Amino acid sequence: MSRLFSRRFACVLFNPQTSSTPGVTISCRFITTSIKSNQELINSPPEISYQPFYSQKTQRDKKASLVIFDKDGTLICFHSMWVPWTLQTARKIEELAKIGSLSEKVYRLLGYCPIEMKVRPGLLAEGTMLQIREEITKLLIEQGLRKDQAQEIVSTSVLDCPTHSRKSLKPIHDLRELFSALKSHNVKIAICTADNRVGTMAMLREFGVESLVDVVVCGDDYGAQPKPNPYNALMICKVLGIAPEDTLMVGDTLADMGMGRSAKLRGTVGVLSGVAGKEELKPLADHLVSHVGELMPIVLGSSTC
Ligand SMILES: [Mg+2]
Repeated sequence: MSRLFSRRFACVLFNPQTSSTPGVTISCRFITTSIKSNQELINSPPEISYQPFYSQKTQRDKKASLVIFDKDGTLICFHSMWVPWTLQTARKIEELAKIGSLSEKVYRLLGYCPIEMKVRPGLLAEGTMLQIREEITKLLIEQGLRKDQAQEIVSTSVLDCPTHSRKSLKPIHDLRELFSALKSHNVKIAICTADNRVGTMAMLREFGVESLVDVVVCGDDYGAQPKPNPYNALMICKVLGIAPEDTLMVGDTLADMGMGRSAKLRGTVGVLSGVAGKEELKPLADHLVSHVGELMPIVLGSSTC
C-alpha cells in the first residue's frame, strides 16, 4: 500500500460504538478532532487493501446497508447558515479592497442571488472553504490587486462559517428520528460534507445524533477530496466494510449526485430542500424527494420514486 494512500485513508473518523469492519484490518478508534492533528495515527496508518472500483449492480428492491448524507441543504437548512455569512463576507471584502460594487462580483462567484436572497448551485454550495478562498483570491487579483494583497484580504475576511451557531442551525427533519429509524433497520450512517470538522461535529452534538453516525468525512480532513470525486465515498464504504452497490448517496447538489455516480454506488437520492431544483438534479439523481423525511422507503427498497 502506498504511503500516500495510507495517509489519505486516515482522514476518516470512526465511531466504535456503531462500527464493525469485517474484512478490514484497522485500529477502530473514535477521534473527535481532525486527523491532521492526530500524529500517532498518521505515523501508524491503518492497514487496508484498496480496490477502487466495484461492479455496479442496481437492486432497487433490496435494502441498502449504508447511507452517506451530505450535510448543508440535506440535513440542515443551507440558507439560514450561509446567507448571513455571504453578506458579511462580501461586505468585508469590498471594504478592505476599496473597490466599488465588488460585493456583486463576490455574490456571482459564490452563486448567491441577492434578489431571491438564496444560494444557488455553485462554488459556495459545492466547494470546500479552501476552494472558496482560492477563487476569491483569483477574483481580487483580476480586479487589479497584487497577490499578497489579495491573500491578506482573504485571510482576514473569508472566515469559517459558525455553522454550529444555534441561531442559524435549522434541521430540515427530525434527525434523531431519521437516524434512529435507519439504525433500527441495521443501516449504517455516514456524513460527507465540504464543511469543516469543528462545525460538523458541533452540529451532530447539538441534535443529539453524534453516537448514531458511523463515519464523518469533512472538507478540511487531511486527504479528503472535494465532491464529485468518488474518493471519500469509496473510503467510507471501505472503512465500514460495505460494498458501494449496497450504498446510497443523499444530497442536494449535482456534486453530491456526481460523487455517488462516480463511486458507482447503488443509487443517488436528490433532496429538494437545499440549493438545487428538480430539473438540475434530475440528470444524476436516481430518486428525487422533497426532503430526507421521505427517505426510508428508498433505503428499504420499497419505493418506486
Ligand atoms: Mg449540500
